[in-house]
Amino acid sequence: MSRGIFSDDFKSTPYWWERTPRPVGDDVGLPPSADVVVIGSGYTGLSAAIQTATHGRRTLVVDAENTGWGCSTRNGGQVSTSIKPTYAMLSRKYGPGPAMEILREGNRALDWVESFVAEHDIRCDFRRCGRFHAAHTPDSFNQLKIKAEGIPRELGTDVRMVEPEEQDTEIRSPAYHGGAVFPHHASIDPGRYHQGLYQCAKARGVEMVSHCRVNAMEKTRNGFDVLTSKGKTSAENVIVATSGYTGKLTPWQQHRIIPIGSYVIATEPLDEGLPEQLIPNDRVITDTRKLVVYYRTCPERKRMLFGGRVSLKETNPELCAPRLRKLLVHRFPELESARITHFWMGFVGYTFDEMPHIGKHDGIHYSMGYCGSGISLASYFGMKTGLKVAGSPAGETALDKLVFPGRFYYRGNPWFLAPSIFYYQWRDERNTD
Ligand SMILES: Cc1cc2nc3c(=O)[nH]c(=O)nc-3n(C[C@H](O)[C@H](O)[C@H](O)COP(=O)(O)OP(=O)(O)OC[C@H]3O[C@@H](n4cnc5c(N)ncnc54)[C@H](O)[C@@H]3O)c2cc1C
Repeated sequence: MSRGIFSDDFKSTPYWWERTPRPVGDDVGLPPSADVVVIGSGYTGLSAAIQTATHGRRTLVVDAENTGWGCSTRNGGQVSTSIKPTYAMLSRKYGPGPAMEILREGNRALDWVESFVAEHDIRCDFRRCGRFHAAHTPDSFNQLKIKAEGIPRELGTDVRMVEPEEQDTEIRSPAYHGGAVFPHHASIDPGRYHQGLYQCAKARGVEMVSHCRVNAMEKTRNGFDVLTSKGKTSAENVIVATSGYTGKLTPWQQHRIIPIGSYVIATEPLDEGLPEQLIPNDRVITDTRKLVVYYRTCPERKRMLFGGRVSLKETNPELCAPRLRKLLVHRFPELESARITHFWMGFVGYTFDEMPHIGKHDGIHYSMGYCGSGISLASYFGMKTGLKVAGSPAGETALDKLVFPGRFYYRGNPWFLAPSIFYYQWRDERNTD
């Protein structure tokens, strides 16, 4: 593809897959049994499997596609503490004590990724670079300030407001009116991180079978028969780790997970020094507009990686990439002539209460619904799920007793998203709050 905005070597696969090619060798036969079968080979599945295998349980991870094919190797590489509801919201719903504990789990999740990466010497460009959350109007700057002041001191959250007149120290963009810096947030190469988890799981004897879709599960006296596209296997325990790709295999979970398409473009390498001028401190960036965007430079500081929710299910780069590019050029007019080398998308698992959910339903363990912040949350709650299955009390979390809400009108087809995307686009274009 060489037309207009696309480079001659354009690829409609994740930029990260070029740095870390997908694992080969997992397209093998299915063992007849295991102690634990994990469905889904992203951060959740592998983090769980590492724990069950470490506790001596024979563990099998299966994936409908190649290993790590889902969100875990497609994301934006922004790592945060990201429990989405604020302390005030959680406190109203669950009380002040539980609210604090829930938010602390978010902090622990980010710390967990950092310590896991260090302990296993995973070369995945993990860096506590900090996040700049930019305000798109003066009013949204004021709202951001109020939110920052509402974070309880006991949480120890480091946040610093950046006034509009000093904004150039963080981002050189005409699209913003100051913002907030969260210095403890981090960046990572998600593909390399996944590869590190993969190698760690393999080293513990976890068996992986790719291109193996689970089509049904049947309860038995000792656990479950798991019926797949490669035949039958059986296990005492099953963990569902399918998040945004949760389907009719697990209808109870499917009725509670909203798959939202998220899209990313990578630009060609930019002029020497330009990335440093645009984002001087190498932060990851988000903003206060309703339609989510997230961006950063690549780990070598050469390209811009720009993601957002610009469509519902559309996967055609010729339609979606120009929309993302328009949003990028609005932030950085200097990038008007930068061509696109990569475009890709994936399905984020959202929930009705914007909370991740971890638990057991009908004998099947699950952890999912990270609402776009799964690098830390999927790793951490996946790990906790593995510990639960292994029978360890260390598997307890502050989220264990939360109700996983559904809606009477929702059975897995998010028909209500399209109008909201159009509405938010319309509002954002008018710069309203
Ligand atoms: C474009 C994009 C950008 C994102 N950016 C960020 C970011 O910057 N920061 C952040 O923290 N999070 C981000 N996220 C979210 C984050 O990537 C996810 O929350 C996280 O990777 C979820 O991991 P997981 O292991 O639960 O699921 P996944 O990695 O999605 O894995 C689920 C797997 O389940 C498999 N599966 C489904 N059904 C079956 C079946 N029946 N049988 C067998 N296998 C099955 C799928 O093939 C898939 O490989 C982003 C997501 C996307 C799509």
